[in-house]
Amino acid sequence: MVCGYCKSDMFFLKDSEDKTGVYCQSCGRWLKWVDSEEKMKLMAEIEKRKRAITVDGANLELVKEKLKAYKKKYDSISEELRFFKQRSTKNKANELESAAMYDKALKLKELTAKIAAYDEVLTTLRIK
Ligand SMILES: [Zn+2]
Repeated sequence: MVCGYCKSDMFFLKDSEDKTGVYCQSCGRWLKWVDSEEKMKLMAEIEKRKRAITVDGANLELVKEKLKAYKKKYDSISEELRFFKQRSTKNKANELESAAMYDKALKLKELTAKIAAYDEVLTTLRIK
């Protein structure tokens, strides 16, 4: 199915009342109504496409797993940094601690960027 307006072939389904509409994923325009038989076919098509999508060399299921793992890691590193900060206000941090903090802060930045990128992709594909 190709959008007559923007020529995109990415679409999504949305139910409204008792019917199902097909909408263009790029421009959001309504394309047509489908019966339940066609709806099943299109849903299968969407599933097939989802499986074919890869992000950063990983398929979508793996991407979702990775995203979850990144978020968990992010939380634990921010927790450690908070602890570091609390302690260093009492006692001045030594060089070793400062280096460790720097590494963690850097890691946190990397994770933030990765999480944002994955979120962006998943949101754009409407599969979060
Ligand atoms: Zn369109």
